[in-house]
Amino acid sequence: DQGVVHLRPDETVVGAFRDKIAMHAQAQERYASIRSKPAVTTDGQRINMVMNAGLMADLPSLDSSGAEGVGLFRTELQFLVRNQMPKRSELVALYKRVLDAAHGKPVIFRTLDIGSDKVLPYMKPTDEPNPALGWRAIRVGLDKPGIMRMQLQALLRSAEGRPLSIMFPFVAQFEEYRAAKAEVDKTIERERILGHVLPAELEIGAMLETPSLAYAPQKFFDEVAFISIGGNDLKQFFFAADRENERVRRRYDTLNVSFLSFIERIVERCAISGTPLSFCGEDAGRPVEAVCLAAMGIRTLSMRPASIGPVKSLLLRVDLGELRKIISDARHRGDQAVRPAVMKYLREL
Ligand code: PEP
Ligand code: MG
Repeated sequence: DQGVVHLRPDETVVGAFRDKIAMHAQAQERYASIRSKPAVTTDGQRINMVMNAGLMADLPSLDSSGAEGVGLFRTELQFLVRNQMPKRSELVALYKRVLDAAHGKPVIFRTLDIGSDKVLPYMKPTDEPNPALGWRAIRVGLDKPGIMRMQLQALLRSAEGRPLSIMFPFVAQFEEYRAAKAEVDKTIERERILGHVLPAELEIGAMLETPSLAYAPQKFFDEVAFISIGGNDLKQFFFAADRENERVRRRYDTLNVSFLSFIERIVERCAISGTPLSFCGEDAGRPVEAVCLAAMGIRTLSMRPASIGPVKSLLLRVDLGELRKIISDARHRGDQAVRPAVMKYLREL
């Protein structure tokens, strides 16, 4: 959980990690009593706790963590772990197993998000000076629609008539969402002609990972079924600080007043159209960050399963109204980040 790899660790390091794992297991046990409890804050705000996944191996965690669904299923992992492009039939089988394992809990499948930090071993590498700002995610999908159509077909078939949610990554402007949605509509029509069963309900959402989308026309917010903030990418573009670059990636705090104000703006825009909004970046799984995101108005948090216990445990103890006031006071004082004021409040709980 630190992004650190120890090569050939000596016995002290191994011992330290053994302890850490044991602690972790114990800590998870601590959360067993709240596993099936809804995350309701002391001022009665209900937060929907969902999980991020990408492999079949993640799915047993749906029950063990108490997640209410999968808020982000990263489909590229299936493409990354192979040495050739998976076949449509393989994808249908896999997505079907995911939906079966969810037992009716909602699952949001994100279409292929490749490029930048995720390079497929069997695709010609593109020589780009700035891959994170380059040809990636929905940009690849729209320019080379073959793979996207194959994946959409696989998703529609895997549902076998059940409700289905699909989300497009890295949408930077309304037109990209529209073009992707048009591909979905075309695929549905083709499936209908071929006589395949269609999902009972189909929701098409977008990830908000570039600041530009927060200022999209209101019509975008009206048309999109749901929005999920990809905080990992959004933060790197907001601060112009590469998420992969150790020199800069910790330089800007998620609890920076400007970033939280930006999140609040997105919440307000979604509220106008009643668009469901979630947050699925790593910060959703960090308890202090998560309660601040909830205080800014986010009502669905999607995180790695092991984070659900710790985040819920803190949510159950905080008053979002009070936190909001603390954040707003810090903002008026001109603090750079609200972290010190928030930590003071949390320590006194
Ligand atoms: C994000 O950018 O926050 C996100 C959830 O997507 P990924 O980390 O896969 O880019
Ligand atoms: Mg992203």
